[in-house]
Amino acid sequence: MGLWAAVHAERLGIEAMLVDAGRLGQGASGGVLGALMPYMPDRWDNKKQFQLEALVALETEIAVLEAATGLSAGYRRSSRLIPLPRPHLRKIALGHSRDAETNWRLGEHRFYWHVLDSPPASGWIEPASGESGFVHDTLAARVAPRSLIAVLASFLRQAKHVRLVEGLDIQSIDPDRCVAVTPGGVICFHRCILSAGHRSFPILDGLTPGRHSPLGQPVKGQAALLKADVDAGLPVIFRDGLYIVPHEGGLVAVGSTSENRFDDPLSTDDQLEDLLTAARMMTPALAGAEVIERWAGLRPKAIDRDPMVGAHPNYPQLIALTGGFKVSFGLAHRLAEAAVREALEIPSSFKLPQGFALSNHITVASHKT
Ligand SMILES: Cc1cc2nc3c(=O)[nH]c(=O)nc-3n(C[C@H](O)[C@H](O)[C@H](O)COP(=O)(O)OP(=O)(O)OC[C@H]3O[C@@H](n4cnc5c(N)ncnc54)[C@H](O)[C@@H]3O)c2cc1C
Repeated sequence: MGLWAAVHAERLGIEAMLVDAGRLGQGASGGVLGALMPYMPDRWDNKKQFQLEALVALETEIAVLEAATGLSAGYRRSSRLIPLPRPHLRKIALGHSRDAETNWRLGEHRFYWHVLDSPPASGWIEPASGESGFVHDTLAARVAPRSLIAVLASFLRQAKHVRLVEGLDIQSIDPDRCVAVTPGGVICFHRCILSAGHRSFPILDGLTPGRHSPLGQPVKGQAALLKADVDAGLPVIFRDGLYIVPHEGGLVAVGSTSENRFDDPLSTDDQLEDLLTAARMMTPALAGAEVIERWAGLRPKAIDRDPMVGAHPNYPQLIALTGGFKVSFGLAHRLAEAAVREALEIPSSFKLPQGFALSNHITVASHKT
């Protein structure tokens, strides 16, 4: 999120400093999965419309940065398969297919929620997993998280207006004095965009008295990367929280757990092994595939589940940019643009859903115990 904000600052010619406590991409964004999953096409609202526009725009955004850096982000609109194990799920899927006809269109772009009797490609998903058929969603895509970070970081390393500072921990922010406090002294700012993943929440909590609940929490996730030598163009598979994401170079990512309680934020355990077992049953091509990495990270989940973006009601000079939870990669470029434009009081060509506003999350935290 912060890297995208810095990219937008650079494009707008704003003098900016991006400060990270460690190395760029060391947080939740530095994982292995990178699924870009659309919301369901039914019960359409401005949040779903915002995501649709963001998912479509991302393809061009990434192509522009890839051209500028000569690097690949491992992006592909690979589509998604969802097995339908029961007849009633097929009925629901047919309804969603009609919803997608109406809602999944943007200019010349059309995306579909096809309901199929059998998988579109053989040798990938286990045919028996879809006794009542398969959904084939043509909007879903994927990106390689670390490759995307490398593209963003490379673009910023050539920047004229943005300075990157790694290994500097922001200990506190004093918005009255417009300073960020670090072990090496203070950084003065005109505007500060706070994009510290889950660590944004305690900082914002400290600046927001009178709440009954914290503004957000970390939710642990575990995922793994396998060497499987399968076609990189195969669809992402999704079922009940299990993602199987084919990437370039014969790599396949499997995820993710969702843990509100955990002892060690960065370790992996049997919950990941269970996901791997489920993935191998769903996809015979993974049966003998070697696991080359097991990884865990902490997602930033805001109190109202949605992203948390925008100026603090008491401190307009402090702008939040966090709370991407499970859908950050498909939205970060747009959320960051909105945050930068709000910081500079430049109008945007698009409107953020009201539910994403920091002020909305503060209202929820003030009432919810
Ligand atoms: C297992 C797993 C699988 C996931 N899969 C997907 C997926 O398929 N698709 C998807 O869209 N999302 C997915 N997510 C969610 C996604 O990774 C996160 O929502 C997203 O990365 C959050 O980005 P962020 O920039 O807000 O936070 P982060 O990536 O955590 O970045 C925060 C940065 O702030 C820095 N920082 C923190 N505190 C300070 C401080 N005090 N001073 C200076 N710097 C600081 C950190 O060092 C870090 O670099 C997944 C998450 C996990 C854990």
